[in-house]
Amino acid sequence: MEQQRIRVAVVGAAGRMGREVLRAVGSDPSFEVVAAIDRTEIGSNTRDLAGALGPDLILEEHLEAALDRSKPDVTIEFSHQSVALDHARAATDRGVSFVFGMTGISESNLDEMRVLCERSGTPGMYVPNFAIGAVLMMHFAELAAKWLPDAEVIEFHHDRKEDAPSGTAMLTAQKIGLARIHAPTPLPKPLLKAEGARGGSVSAVPVHSVRLPGLLAHQEVIFGGPGETLTIRHDSLDRASFMQGVKLCARSVRNLHGLTIGLDKILF
Ligand code: NAD
Repeated sequence: MEQQRIRVAVVGAAGRMGREVLRAVGSDPSFEVVAAIDRTEIGSNTRDLAGALGPDLILEEHLEAALDRSKPDVTIEFSHQSVALDHARAATDRGVSFVFGMTGISESNLDEMRVLCERSGTPGMYVPNFAIGAVLMMHFAELAAKWLPDAEVIEFHHDRKEDAPSGTAMLTAQKIGLARIHAPTPLPKPLLKAEGARGGSVSAVPVHSVRLPGLLAHQEVIFGGPGETLTIRHDSLDRASFMQGVKLCARSVRNLHGLTIGLDKILF
């Protein structure tokens, strides 16, 4: 029997990630893209934005009207964290699950989304990093932290990234903090010749953020022990690196409960 295709609405469809989603989901026969929404490029054909692999749709402006018309199963959204809560409400009010990838969603907004998902019985996901390799990097860092409590994180991103440190760097440091058995070695208070030279501290892990044109999304987690170092590095070299994770979430979200945060919850 033919499997039913998952009906998807892409929000933030004119953006860099949105166009990649249009191509990835539009060219996968297990999905059907039924709506594309953005606040720019309204009225454009999505093939003009995403190329021939994209669906043949007209970009719409109003999310609620688009959901009412197209009746998707899932929204996939890479827009801006400031609209996440409103868009979660618009989706869950209609029994539509959401997969959000915009970074920097606040804890209080996540708490409210949790309530929306539970009250409506409509599952949703927030995934700060869809790259499978990045999720494995965090997993390996957790393992290493048990034996090597001294660690620093350096994350590298393109110069248009708004937030610092990245959500992935914050989460990596928090996971290291929780996984440590021993406290990190106390260091002498540094004489700083330039403010911020030792980075920001997250869960007692120094985190350094590099922003340069030419980069996409990269991170090193460096552990130091007596006479040895261990470096775990991940590089997203192309936005395609996020698409396997995006599709996995879009396929899985409706079988989850409430709000699920992070790709690790469905990988491990
Ligand atoms: P972008 O600026 O190229 O695209 C964002 C798009 O969202 C734009 O087209 C914009 O017009 C649209 N938009 C903004 N507000 C909107 C609204 N209210 N309604 C509809 N559309 C709206 O940015 P990008 O590089 O595509 O990144 C988007 C987000 O995704 C960022 O937060 C970025 O950090 C995040 N991101 C997450 C991952 C991940 O793995 N989770 C990976 C890469 C990027």
